[in-house]
Amino acid sequence: MTKKKPVKRVKHVPQRTCVGCRETLPKRTMIRIVRTVEGVQMDMTGKLAGRGAYLHDRRECWERGLKGVLAHALKTTLKNEERTMLEEFMSTLPQDAEGAGAADNHVTV
Ligand SMILES: [Zn+2]
Repeated sequence: MTKKKPVKRVKHVPQRTCVGCRETLPKRTMIRIVRTVEGVQMDMTGKLAGRGAYLHDRRECWERGLKGVLAHALKTTLKNEERTMLEEFMSTLPQDAEGAGAADNHVTV
């Protein structure tokens, strides 16, 4: 009774949860932060090994992340220089005011 029906696949997009707002989004719209043996760093290639967490490219989510949820997700404590590095990156992100017209809106389906 285990006849396998071909599963209808809606093209599979890897989804990740943003630790800032808990929304689930396609991986490519997220920035991966990873805790490696050398410390916490941003993983732009998605290839670093270590415990990872994802954040949107939204300042709001980073602010929340830096308040503690990111460190919690990575099961670590951010060192000063790591926090500074993340804050510097955060300052380059657009401020997102209540979903109002950011230049490059994410496409919602
Ligand atoms: Zn988010």
